[in-house]
Order: sequence, then structure tokens, then C-alpha cells
Amino acid sequence: MNAAYLFCTRCGQQFSVNDIRWCCTCGSLLNLHFEAQFDKEKISLRKPDLWRYREALPINDDENIISFQEGFTPLIEMQVDGKKFLIKQEHLFQTGSYKDRGASILISKIKEIGVKHIVEDSSGNAGCAIAAYAARADISCDIYVPDRTSTPKLSQIKRYRANLHRIPGSREDTAKTAFLAAEHSYYASHSWNPFFFHGTKTIAFEIWEQLVWKAPDYLVLPVGNGTLLLGAYIGFCDLQNAGMIEQLPTLIGVQAENCAPLYQSFVHHQPDYEKINPKPTIAEGIAIAEPVRGQEILAAIHNTNGYILSVTENEIFSALQKTGEAGFYIEPTAAATIAALSKLPVLRDPDAVVVSVFSGHGLKSQEKSIT
Ligand SMILES: *Cc1c(COP(=O)(O)O)cnc(C)c1O
Ligand SMILES: [Zn+2]
Repeated sequence: MNAAYLFCTRCGQQFSVNDIRWCCTCGSLLNLHFEAQFDKEKISLRKPDLWRYREALPINDDENIISFQEGFTPLIEMQVDGKKFLIKQEHLFQTGSYKDRGASILISKIKEIGVKHIVEDSSGNAGCAIAAYAARADISCDIYVPDRTSTPKLSQIKRYRANLHRIPGSREDTAKTAFLAAEHSYYASHSWNPFFFHGTKTIAFEIWEQLVWKAPDYLVLPVGNGTLLLGAYIGFCDLQNAGMIEQLPTLIGVQAENCAPLYQSFVHHQPDYEKINPKPTIAEGIAIAEPVRGQEILAAIHNTNGYILSVTENEIFSALQKTGEAGFYIEPTAAATIAALSKLPVLRDPDAVVVSVFSGHGLKSQEKSIT
């Protein structure tokens, strides 16, 4: 295994990857330094799941891998307003969202360091994924969600036998409660824990392989806490550092206008998220008013000459309907990203390859505004 270590994004302190630790002693976010390697021939011969990129995944021992043979989701062409897009079918995971990518690597690492109990908070889907993988790993978990979370997500978490806590108030109140609980446990947070992002990064590897070892020109992705966007960024950086691609794709982030702290800061050229007064949105999965990795998300966007778009509730609902008419059933949060495809500025190259995602399954959420 190559030299990997955790490091603090503020004070630079380094820690072993096998420390039972999810934030720095100074309280700041940790990131993982890891040199990913790729052997195309080996990769092509392996099973079609995300563990085929084994040399790019930060788990020491195969015995610790917790997997449902997830990943390698189809990349399907879809027309939106007469234009061609490639859509990664991330709603087709075991738990119904791409969060399984992060959960598989994070729970494997947690097993590797011998932790037996974890805490996580989520607007629903990350909680579902962490609970499912924890069940498979025989690790007990407490999952905190806002009390208005969609009922299918609540029953899913309970079915995996996680201890479910429904917290009144805002998404941020839920995060604070989980944060306190994590003082006596291990925080398997999809926004704090760097191993989660080294799972979501596998979307980049799969797109690269599905485009016959090429990076797309543009990637249009949802952004709340940025677990998919930052994961994709890390993954394409891994590929670039290993000499597998020349250029990073341009990253386009999508937020719901009713809760768009990063869109606001992008427009106002701020380095971190702006304080906002969030309004309710049917895109519950990206309704994050205070994204802890805001600075990192904005830096990734700038680094690829990308930008952030915001979409209204009407645009989200209309995208949900249009997607359904094309034969795909996705949750409203996922429709926000598709709504942005209709609002992309004219691309300089009309033949540019634009990849986007269906981030969550339609069965995840009872529709909050059926018309
Ligand atoms: C988690 C999630 C997202 C993206 O959320 P982030 O907060 O940016 O990680 C998008 N769509 C769905 C369905 C999700 O579950
Ligand atoms: Zn520090």
C-alpha cells in the first residue's frame, strides 16, 4: 500500500489513516492524502462493481471490504429540450441513491479500524446507506434525521435496524444533535468523514471507463454538502495525477433556489458559503444551508472553470415530470439537477460531452406536490 495519511485542512497536522479520528485535534476538517493507481487491463477483467478500481481505494485489507457489489451504474443517453446528455443512473443502487459509494468505502474503513458503534446525521439518503452497510458489517448505528424527512426513507433506516432519531427543527439542528452524540462514538458523517468522499469519487472512475478511458467535458451535479461533487472532483484529480486523463471536466453545481448558499457566494465571489434564510424545497436532499465543506466546493468549481446554477421549485417539478415521461422515476431532489440541464449556458463546443446524474430513486420520497 502506498503512503497515505490524514491531514488537517486548517493547521496541516497529519494523522495515520488507522487512527480512530474523523476531525483534527483543532476541530477542523480532515482530508485524506492517497496516491491512487490504475491498471486498465486489470480493471477491465474484474467484476462490474466499484471495487474494480481496487488500487485507487484506501482500504488496506480485502477482508474488511463491505460491499453489495455496488456501482458501475449505467450511463444512458437522454434528450433534454432536444439536446443530448449522458445520465449516470445513480438511483439504481442497493439503497436507492449514490450514497452507497461513500458508505461502502467508509464502513469498510470503520471495520478496518475496529469501531463497533457509529453516529450519522442526514436528510435521509446518507442515513439509509450508512445504516445498510453498517447492518452488513454488524456495526451498530444511531442515525439522526430531521423529523419531516420523507417516510420511505424513515422506514428504510428502521428496517436496517438502526436507532433512528427524528429531530425537530432545521437540518442544521439535526447535525448539531448528531455532532454532540459523536463525542461518545465515531462520526460516520458523509460531510465530515474524508473516507466517504474516497467512495463517492468512484463515479469519476466509472464515467472515465464508460467513455472508453476519457473524461467528459462537463459534469452537472447536485450540491448540498457536495458529497458527489467533491467526490467526482477527487476522482478526476486522482486520474489526472496518475496520468490517465489530461484535463479535468468542468464542474457545474446545482442548488435549489430556495436553499442556495453556495450559488449566492459564487455569484458574489465569496470564498465560503453565504448566510441565507432557507425556504422549504421539494429537493430535500440538497437543502443544506450551512455546508461544512463550502470552501472546498467553491475551490473545486473555480479550479475547473465551472459555475453554480440555481433552479426554482417550478423548474424542479417540471423536470421531474419530463423525466418520468421519458421513462425514468427519480426523487424530486434528483430532478433539481435535471432541471439545470435546460438552463445551461450555450456551450462553446456543440459536440461537448455533458454527463449528469439521477442521484436518487423516485420510490424514496412521497411527492410533496402532486398535481
Ligand atoms: C445526498 C444527495 C444529493 C447531494 O447532496 P450533497 O449534500 O451535495 O451530498 C443529491 N441527490 C440526492 C438524491 C441525494 O441523496
Ligand atoms: Zn487542525
